[in-house]
Amino acid sequence: MKIKLNDNYRNLSESYLFSEIARRVREYKEAEPEKGERIVRLGIGDVTLPLAPAVVSAMEAAVREMGDASTFRGYPPEYGYDFLREAIASHYASFGVKIPPEDIFVSDGAKSDVGNIVDILGDNTVYIPDPVYPVYLDSNVMSGRRIEFIPGNEKNGFLPMPDGINCEGAVFYLCSPNNPTGAVYDREKLRVWVDFALRTGSLIIFDSAYEAFVTGDLPHSIYEIEGAEKCAVEICSFSKTAGFTGTRCAWCVVPSAAMSGGMSLNKMWRRRQATKFNGVSYPVQRAAEAALSPEGLGQCMENIAYYMENARIISDFLDRKGISYTGGRYSPYVWLKCPDGMSSWEFFDYLLTKAQVVGTPGEGFGSCGEGYFRLTSFGSREGTEEAVRRLEELL
Ligand code: PLP
Repeated sequence: MKIKLNDNYRNLSESYLFSEIARRVREYKEAEPEKGERIVRLGIGDVTLPLAPAVVSAMEAAVREMGDASTFRGYPPEYGYDFLREAIASHYASFGVKIPPEDIFVSDGAKSDVGNIVDILGDNTVYIPDPVYPVYLDSNVMSGRRIEFIPGNEKNGFLPMPDGINCEGAVFYLCSPNNPTGAVYDREKLRVWVDFALRTGSLIIFDSAYEAFVTGDLPHSIYEIEGAEKCAVEICSFSKTAGFTGTRCAWCVVPSAAMSGGMSLNKMWRRRQATKFNGVSYPVQRAAEAALSPEGLGQCMENIAYYMENARIISDFLDRKGISYTGGRYSPYVWLKCPDGMSSWEFFDYLLTKAQVVGTPGEGFGSCGEGYFRLTSFGSREGTEEAVRRLEELL
């Protein structure tokens, strides 16, 4: 062919993290078949517990409606059914945030929204935390944006702040609770970010995919901070709240108050979604609605409590060993400093070969992740306890 392709794709770095982990595990199993049988995975970023019973019942009932001529439905509304947008608005109201349903756009995943939001943005400098969920970086590389990193490190508790950043009209990604570090912005720190964005005419893209793990006085949403509706878009998901990683449903809040150069972000996103997206299936939206009902949310929170108990088991172990870490308290992720100055991959190999425990090297989430390691609480209780027993002996 002689067509021009998107040359920006040449600038993507190879997404090698999970394939490299799989390769090292495979080679180890071939070399040590007996030990290979004992492998426990604490690297998993996917949920493992099944959907809540209230969610399953709602989905079953919706499927039956679709199989009956009198209740069958065709294309869903591009922005989500009103019943789900209202349920999401009520969810926000439960932590004191008022979001009109018209500002809520239902989608098939936070990954899609994070990747697609660049469609309505022009050629701004984009600031991305390091380490962080890699989709922010790759989607901006694909669209050829100027990218700056805002480093997370032990000094700032893996919560980068805007100190020293000189900009006008830039785009900032924030993720809280953060993947992979589990660090959570408190109200004061978010206040600083919102004030900074308002002062510099910038936009914050706030990823709250793990908000359901937050307890106490920590913010679940950036809209808990006054003024955020003028400078922030928020992306959240049912994936981790309700175990929807395989069911697929999320939402994006694009406030009507968010304007730039006389254009409304809400109207642009509306137009973008109506053109390029045909909505989420009716049974999935009914299932999502059920996940936010008092009964459904209660059941989902039981699953989250199970994961958080796993996180506690891991964090207690690190406390006993005096290994420094973030996360584990308001997040399914525990982010630890590799002992004895080991690099992320050295520590990965060490745990694999000496204890048959698999985690995720921090370097895969950005260069500031080098020397750190992510363990997750999404495994089984037995697996987590067994892994901790082995690490207790090894470290
Ligand atoms: N945002 C963050 C920070 C994530 O860690 C993930 C998934 O791991 C996503 C978004 C993707 O969510 P979804 O399953 O809704 O696409």
